[in-house]
Amino acid sequence: MCLRQLLQSSQLQRAWRAAFLKHVQGRHPGAWRWTHSGGGPYRAVIFDMGGVLLPSPGRVAAEWEVQNHIPSGTIVKALISGGENGPWMKFMRAEITTEDFLQEFGRLCSEISKTSVPVDSFFSLLTSERVAKQFPVMTEAITQIRAKGLQTAVLSNNFYLPNGKSFLPLDRKQFDVVVESCLEGVCKPDPRMYKLCLERLGRQPSESIFLDDLGPNLKAAAGLGIHTIKVDDPETAVKELETLLGFPLRMAVPNTRPVRKTMEIPKDALEKYLKDLLGIQPTGPLELLQFDHGQSNPTYYVKLANHQLVLRKKPPGTLLPSAHAVEREFRIMKALGNAGVPVPKVLDLCEDSSVVGTPFYLMEYCPGRIYKDPSLPGLEPSQRRAIYTAMNRVLCKIHSVDLKAAGLEDYGKHGDYLARQVQTWIKQYRASETSTIPAMERLIEWLPLHLPRQQRTTVVHGDFRLDNLLFHPETAEVLAVLDWELSTLGDPLADVAYNCLAHYLPSGFPIQPGLSDCDLTELGIPTAEDYFRMYCLHMGIPPIENWNFYMAFSFFRIAAILQGVYKRSLTGQASSATAKQTGKLTEFMSNLAWDFAIKEGFQIFKEMPATKPLMRSHHTWSLLRTPGTRSYVTSTDSSPAHASKGALIFSPEGLPHRVRELYQKLKEFMERHVYPAEPELQRHQVSAERWTPSPLVEDLKEKAKAEGLWNLFLPLETDPEKKYGAGLTNMEYAHLCEVMGTSLYAPEIFNCSAPDTGNMELLVRYGTEEQKARWLIPLLEGKARSCFAMTEPQVASSDATNIESSIREEDGFYVINGHKWWITGGHGEVLFEQVCVPKENIILGPGRGFEIAQGRLGPGRIHHCMRLIGCSERALALMKARVKSRVAFGKPLVEQGTVLADIALSRVEIEQARLLVLKAAHVMDVVGNKAAALDIAMIKMVAPSMASRVIDRAIQAFGAAGLSSNYPLAQFFAGARALRFADGPDEVHRAAVAKMELKHHS
Ligand SMILES: Cc1cc2nc3c(=O)[nH]c(=O)nc-3n(C[C@H](O)[C@H](O)[C@H](O)COP(=O)(O)OP(=O)(O)OC[C@H]3O[C@@H](n4cnc5c(N)ncnc54)[C@H](O)[C@@H]3O)c2cc1C
Repeated sequence: MCLRQLLQSSQLQRAWRAAFLKHVQGRHPGAWRWTHSGGGPYRAVIFDMGGVLLPSPGRVAAEWEVQNHIPSGTIVKALISGGENGPWMKFMRAEITTEDFLQEFGRLCSEISKTSVPVDSFFSLLTSERVAKQFPVMTEAITQIRAKGLQTAVLSNNFYLPNGKSFLPLDRKQFDVVVESCLEGVCKPDPRMYKLCLERLGRQPSESIFLDDLGPNLKAAAGLGIHTIKVDDPETAVKELETLLGFPLRMAVPNTRPVRKTMEIPKDALEKYLKDLLGIQPTGPLELLQFDHGQSNPTYYVKLANHQLVLRKKPPGTLLPSAHAVEREFRIMKALGNAGVPVPKVLDLCEDSSVVGTPFYLMEYCPGRIYKDPSLPGLEPSQRRAIYTAMNRVLCKIHSVDLKAAGLEDYGKHGDYLARQVQTWIKQYRASETSTIPAMERLIEWLPLHLPRQQRTTVVHGDFRLDNLLFHPETAEVLAVLDWELSTLGDPLADVAYNCLAHYLPSGFPIQPGLSDCDLTELGIPTAEDYFRMYCLHMGIPPIENWNFYMAFSFFRIAAILQGVYKRSLTGQASSATAKQTGKLTEFMSNLAWDFAIKEGFQIFKEMPATKPLMRSHHTWSLLRTPGTRSYVTSTDSSPAHASKGALIFSPEGLPHRVRELYQKLKEFMERHVYPAEPELQRHQVSAERWTPSPLVEDLKEKAKAEGLWNLFLPLETDPEKKYGAGLTNMEYAHLCEVMGTSLYAPEIFNCSAPDTGNMELLVRYGTEEQKARWLIPLLEGKARSCFAMTEPQVASSDATNIESSIREEDGFYVINGHKWWITGGHGEVLFEQVCVPKENIILGPGRGFEIAQGRLGPGRIHHCMRLIGCSERALALMKARVKSRVAFGKPLVEQGTVLADIALSRVEIEQARLLVLKAAHVMDVVGNKAAALDIAMIKMVAPSMASRVIDRAIQAFGAAGLSSNYPLAQFFAGARALRFADGPDEVHRAAVAKMELKHHS
């Protein structure tokens, strides 16, 4: 191993080593030496507690915040709030009781997060046995330090527990001196604390090293002349301490411990077997340790003579036939080793259970470094980048293995890997399901429908992540890829996505630390997207378009696994004490998976070419596209060759390909999800719960998002990057909006309902960044609703100048008084009594409402008209079906002349109105909203009354059933009727049309 490393001493390795030395020396000028002098000038090592010997309160908080849905960073902000005189520091000096502390601390947290924070539960977690456990690496270091005759001390800011004891969950016997802030009434960084500690140790500052995770505490120590080490990661800190002290602080074999009682194996039989295998006659005894990881297949460190080996075996007991297949692990590692993939060299497979109780295999032990924290604390940005690049390369290497040459063609099934995997994990999840998790249900439906079409087949590792790689201790070379238990043949992109999971988990995440709250640029770590791109580049494949699917699947798989662990913990067969806690994270993981399904939906928009016409003058030209279909276009250009650009498209068939696909998707979604949900939604509407959002609507909203059927109304000019919407032209949206109009519930499901649409546009155009963050984003995400409160009972509100409500400035606020009614969002009646609105909440500024109202007269104004066309179409369709089946006076109703006349009239009126809607939308697209005022007024005048007539005819044909809640007709009618004044009375639109007619055509 060493020889190979020396021979491979490439430029990168030299650069790495130089950076490493610079890193260590740069932090401790002059301190770089590695002697065995038993500590050099240092005689004592002083440790802080939280963050050095135990997990820091900050890290515990991050985990707890995730689990309790508390905004990340709340606890830490509250801990440092108030500085010296904040509740935390007072508590540390024992100036306040636990009860007072929790009360004050809880208030602070709630103020910071704007939600109630159960700080009691955080406090119990912080002080629980599960969390307050000393890092093994520190325990080892303390043992070694004392073995060399040096002193150790704890210098801790800590507090009294309610039982009257101080919080110090450490074995006091490990330390010569213990200094606790709550006992002394003094806290770090007060120099008195450090002096007290030195005094008790009987040491000079220059003879001591102090380890802490907080800058101010270290600064104070350094100020006294104590040598300091900043602890970001215990492992790295111990390495630094080793360098300073000049002797090793780690046990010879990292990540091992004495063999557990239940996992013991017969040493004699093993020794005999090894002697035969290796052909040796050792003098010393066989050494056996157990690795911490590898719980599924117990893994041992074996030393016999100068041979260091790793033994991996099946666990004892009855096993599922396909599980714990050490034979497969042996096979794949052997084949991959021959194919040049870095894996530990395998020596022998022993299927004879009589040797150690179960079959096992042996491999060479590779000393190296495992990075457990993906943020790679203690490394330089260039080193981190090199680690990630090396990981990427080695994955490419695995995925490039020639299956035939390696003899692995039959190592797994070929093709349809993801389809099979999705089904397997759905089955596993169902088998361990304990309650309904909405995101899991949606994923179970979504994943099979969005499987990637093309999949390559290669070796897949199945659990490829940073901490399954063994690195060279000083360079970025991957020495070995470990843990092949889940390997098979499959889609390699599943490995890449799985490899990026940590990017989306917070740093304090309980199962494995993540990167989602880290500044990757500063750290030098590639983003997940960059990592994917790097992979594609190395593999020479085109960029992956649907990698959100792969991410969704990876998180789904983890969620299903966690659910299994949780279920086992409930039935008492948990493999670890933390299993129960871990299992609760299923929901968290499934929500992350669903976020990716939604991102996959938004992906659609990115692919869509912009169709917003740029020309401002227009002429009309029409073209019959396919004989027999309603496909007409008008062009803004006189040449038919440019017909598709800026064209008025009369029927969906004429829409650009991408928009047509969206249209088709919308129709399918309506058929599959919306129409079948109508009876349930109607029930909710008349139930006592009607004032709270319907869970079914919320679920359908999530599904619509994941299909990219979301915020379709947002025009391209408002959302040029298509960040939130599809970037459709008004005319394109008119076709889609018509489909949504066929169900009263649909607009909200697609986040396209009034008055939110108008309000969102208004915020996009006039909101400040703070206002957008507070109100626009939740609206765009469908997590908030909004209203438009103008109408007042006491005055004729069709004339806005009648409005009596008042706004006046008072003490830095705007104070509102007024009485409103018919406010959509529940058509509520609202009393504003001395409502204080902070000044920064006003949009654009006082006196500028008219300007905003002008802006609001944008596309949102004709959405009702677009929907009314759809509503009329559905009424006519229902009517046609009904009159064909209903018989009166000896023949079906459809044979009655008056019914035929009604159908004809309805068809003609719908067509007329649709043409006018499309024209108004088209004119808005090509000449702008202001110039389209006449067309807008005309369609607002025409559409509601047309719809009222068409629906009325349908109700007539249905008889009494038409008025019942068995059909949507009565609700349609009420809606259309209301729009004859709710969106401005017909008369006002008529007056506007007449005024413009007289002005322009007199
Ligand atoms: C379902 C529904 C939802 C609504 N949502 C909202 C909302 O979210 N926010 C909000 O502020 N309001 C809302 N409204 C109220 C609606 O905007 C008002 O009802 C509308 O502006 C008319 O005002 P008004 O009721 O005070 O009628 P008035 O102003 O009293 O008018 C009554 C009638 O007088 C006649 N009239 C008025 N002006 C003229 C004219 N110039 N020439 C000839 N005749 C005229 C018309 O026939 C008119 O219908 C909603 C109403 C309904 C039914």
